[in-house]
Amino acid sequence: MPVTTTVQPIPHVTPKITQLFIDNQWVNAANGKTIPTIDPATLEKIADVQLGDEVDVDKAVAAAKSAFALGSPWRRMDASQRGRLIAKVADLIEQDTAYLASLECRDVGKPYLAALHDISFVVQILRYQSGWTDKLCGKTLPVDGDFFTYTRLEAIGVCGIILPWNFPLVLLAVKVGSALAAGCTVVIKPAEQTPLTALHFASICSSAGIPSGVVNVVTGLGATAGAALANHMDVDKISFTGSTDVGRLIMKASAESNLKKVTLELGGKSPCIVFSDANVDHAVKMAHFALFFNSGQACSAASRCFVQEDIYDEFVAKAAQRANEKIVGDPFNPKTENGPQIDAIQHKKILELIESGKGEGARLVAGGGSKEGKGFFIEPTVFADVTDHMRIAREEIFGPVQQIMKFRSVEEVIQRANDSNFALAASVFTKDINKALTIANSIKSGIVWINCHHVFRTQAPFGGCKESGMGREYAEEGIREYCEIKTVTIKIPQKNS
Ligand code: NAD
Repeated sequence: MPVTTTVQPIPHVTPKITQLFIDNQWVNAANGKTIPTIDPATLEKIADVQLGDEVDVDKAVAAAKSAFALGSPWRRMDASQRGRLIAKVADLIEQDTAYLASLECRDVGKPYLAALHDISFVVQILRYQSGWTDKLCGKTLPVDGDFFTYTRLEAIGVCGIILPWNFPLVLLAVKVGSALAAGCTVVIKPAEQTPLTALHFASICSSAGIPSGVVNVVTGLGATAGAALANHMDVDKISFTGSTDVGRLIMKASAESNLKKVTLELGGKSPCIVFSDANVDHAVKMAHFALFFNSGQACSAASRCFVQEDIYDEFVAKAAQRANEKIVGDPFNPKTENGPQIDAIQHKKILELIESGKGEGARLVAGGGSKEGKGFFIEPTVFADVTDHMRIAREEIFGPVQQIMKFRSVEEVIQRANDSNFALAASVFTKDINKALTIANSIKSGIVWINCHHVFRTQAPFGGCKESGMGREYAEEGIREYCEIKTVTIKIPQKNS
């Protein structure tokens, strides 16, 4: 569906569903407790959802395990039929675009048009994955000796899907679509801030005819419901997106339980490198987008912008002007470019990092504080003359705060860009293809964008190195993360070449 504002929003949307989804049933949490989900733009409560915990996770994992049992309808289903069911889910999501985009707009605080883009991307992701189900093949191998050997790609099994709040339905689709395409079953734990679209996704899976127990959703907190999944002996894999700190806890839980497989998409401090031969206006615009996209709440945000000395002053002045012009406010207003931050914790953390920047001597050229009003809004902020040791140059801010640094040579900027514990993405702006490819081949990161940034495509793998995580999502590689390779060897009387 084309992304236009003709798909009208539902401004005061409230969710139709607030219960847990376990074994194709809508149920309350065993403890009888609920948790509110808040609109970060108005601080109004949208709804109360169930506060699931270990007991509910146990039930959901049991349902997912049983749905994955040998001979179950899901295991016996033709791969092509699995693909048709995933495609049906995509169709039903597309039909509910206005409702899902409105829910995402309200729950996350992202502008409605951006939420529409998210839903459109979700549909693309699921359609792409639906085509992979019957194309995941093993190999026949010319092994030494009188043997016939082949490999099979087999579904890993029960997957725990632990989600963040910045792109709730997009990241759910990437992970769950890949898991289902591979033939796995899932228990989804959405972020406590943004549980609503995951619950509607479950109802769509049920309407599409996905068998009972294949998709389960337990809303709740990370330290209880999330940790229960990560520690569970019957969960075969965890796919997690979120903070590096929690990523470490997931790895630890895996090590201390059943060594379940782990895919981690964590934080970043991605460099954006602008050479003086670049088109400055384009580079300013793209560097702005690279940082301020989704109110700065993106793991691949370009939060270290290195600008070559000859164009530095011009770039800083234009970057400040662009930030000052940015329209921040009500996510349902079509003119709004950025909404609020997700919650009070993030709001406070970002303001504290802004203060650290001022205190450590960075030059504030735009914004620098909270925005008047009720919600968790922050002024688009730009710091110039940032040096590499400052906290704002080293820590993930996850907010609308741009850091601009000056550099002289190619060698210098490569060394400085690589001086980070994170290694997710990088971008370079130049008209010189040799310079661009030198950067692309020298930066340690999972993704490099040349004269662009934040180009996410369902056909292209995405993921990080170093403390930005492990494993890849999207593309064939992302689906293979949900498969094990089995090698089968048969003794034969005599082989012939
Ligand atoms: P988080 O890592 O705490 O939460 C992400 C998910 O993990 C949520 O579903 C949460 O409930 C769950 N979780 C939390 N503790 C857990 C535990 N012990 N075991 C299992 N699951 C657990 O992220 P946050 O607190 O919401 O945000 C903090 C920071 O994380 C942000 O400032 C940002 O730096 C980073 N972050 C990164 C991304 C990303 O896309 N890479 C997304 C969101 C947040």
